[in-house]
Amino acid sequence: MDVNVPISLVTNDAFREIFQSMSEGILMVDEGGKIVIANPVAELIFGYDKNELTDVMLEELLPERYRGRHINFRKGFNAHPEPRRMGFGRDLTGLKKDGLEVPIEISLSYTKVQGKILVMAFISDISQRKKAEDALKRSEEQLIVYAAELEKKVQSRTEALHKTIQELENEVTERKKAEEEARKSLEKERELNELKTKFVSIASHEFRTPLSTVLSSASLINQYNDRGEKEKVDKHVQRIKSSVNHLTSILNDFLSLGKLEEGVIDINKESIHLKEFVDGVHEELSPVLKPGQTLDIAYETSLNEIYSDPRILRNILFNLISNASKYSDAGKEIVLKFENVDNNFVFSIHDRGIGIPEEDQKHLFDRFFRASNAGNVQGTGLGLNIVRRYIELLEGTISFASEHGKGSIFTVTIPI
Ligand code: ADP
Repeated sequence: MDVNVPISLVTNDAFREIFQSMSEGILMVDEGGKIVIANPVAELIFGYDKNELTDVMLEELLPERYRGRHINFRKGFNAHPEPRRMGFGRDLTGLKKDGLEVPIEISLSYTKVQGKILVMAFISDISQRKKAEDALKRSEEQLIVYAAELEKKVQSRTEALHKTIQELENEVTERKKAEEEARKSLEKERELNELKTKFVSIASHEFRTPLSTVLSSASLINQYNDRGEKEKVDKHVQRIKSSVNHLTSILNDFLSLGKLEEGVIDINKESIHLKEFVDGVHEELSPVLKPGQTLDIAYETSLNEIYSDPRILRNILFNLISNASKYSDAGKEIVLKFENVDNNFVFSIHDRGIGIPEEDQKHLFDRFFRASNAGNVQGTGLGLNIVRRYIELLEGTISFASEHGKGSIFTVTIPI
């Protein structure tokens, strides 16, 4: 609509037609703020009867709280009138005749009639739109709340899921551990059974020779006694002794192995006077050495005392020296050497015996293993296995070098 029409046009039929039938409310206000004319939609919006708005001050259509500010605003507009929307970007509120407030939207324009400004306000009741907007806002807010709740739920479910997965994983790990333990104890039991079976077979085989030696020597002693042949008696007494020693050593090996298998060997370290200790072992070993075999002991160490488990150390020495003797001929010397290298106590047993064939060397510490050249030498193949495990208990290591037919040297290194 062309708003720059003279007031007389309002009374013009065509214009009145438009004015009356506009879907927007129209108020025409004079410079003093008084309503000159209002169309039916404007009357409807503010709840007034027909023509009741004429001569009403515009501010009466505003809630109290906006009135003061509006008067200033109106004066400002009159001073610099220009068509524009009012309250762009914020909600405007009108006051109805019954005192209720109504959300509205206003566009302003003006015209000059006889040099006086006539302001025209085009008003829309935006209650429905506001309601819809509010509803939309509420549902948006609701949606945000739902989304947040959903997110929370998803998070808590995810956490619960993670927890369940973790629990399941733990359970699987526990079960695997239990299975592994069961497998190990089964394996151990199987090994012990195998050991027992092997013991029975070795005992029946290995015991036979010394026992028959004991038997034959005993009956020969009887005969030689009757004949007064003392030297022969002594020889057979010696044979009985060495057979019994051998039987004892087999039994000791089995006992040690049993204890090692059960893991019941305690380490009891104490201060050991090296020379006294070695003298003791030497004395114990003398009857085991073959005629003419000597044990030369070389101390190339500054250590007088060592801190270790004497029982275990004795066993290691005893085993290695008796092997050196067993696998060497009579008359061959054995050298036992003590050293300290870096922070280790080192001892080696060197013999000039049958040596170990190269192809057998890698199995030397296996339980029940005997080298192919062991021949008739009595033995069970347990000694070196036990020795290595004892050395491990002392956190040490064992190595050897050997040449078939020439001899062997076993070296033990134990941290001080
Ligand atoms: P055993 O002497 O009772 O057979 P060991 O475990 O002590 O058992 O030794 C395993 C094998 O290693 C022996 O059977 C032997 O073949 C070989 N062996 C050990 N020590 C020596 C050695 N000093 N010289 C040659 N062979 C040896």
